[in-house]
Amino acid sequence: MQTFLTHSAEETKRLGKKLAKEIRAGALVCLEGDLGAGKTTFVQGFLEEMGAARPYVSPTFVIMKQYDLPTQRNGIERVYHADAYRVETKDFANLGFVEWCADKQGIVLLEWPERVQDLISCEALFINFVSKMDGEREIIVEG
Ligand code: ADP
Ligand code: MG
Repeated sequence: MQTFLTHSAEETKRLGKKLAKEIRAGALVCLEGDLGAGKTTFVQGFLEEMGAARPYVSPTFVIMKQYDLPTQRNGIERVYHADAYRVETKDFANLGFVEWCADKQGIVLLEWPERVQDLISCEALFINFVSKMDGEREIIVEG
């Protein structure tokens, strides 16, 4: 387990970039934490480091956005950014969540994993975002 303390959105983005440099193709990353804790901000840094084309929308309103990378990175060709806040497990499965996770050239970044717990495989990487004072966030990388 690793714990980080960030003091700005920019710093949280930098942590997302750091993960993008280390992650291996095929991974599922579960981002936990309350609304406004910094999950989407972290993903923006991740996508930027991956060279994904903007805009980096928050998937709260679209449920999932797929980014096909212009250049593959460490065997990674696609990034799926998903948000389960407003969906039922059944609907999420129907949208293709299991297929996104089975994509060996893909990375799945999932906000609100607890909403679709039954679909999460045991080898997922969990990152927990906790709001502290003002702009401070504690970011705990499990495993
Ligand atoms: P979530 O996806 O967890 O709901 P967002 O990343 O969408 O959260 O929003 C986080 C908000 O908090 C943004 O408006 C961001 O600018 C602000 N913020 C302030 N400090 C931080 C920090 N240290 N890390 C991340 N976001 C921060
Ligand atoms: Mg979000």
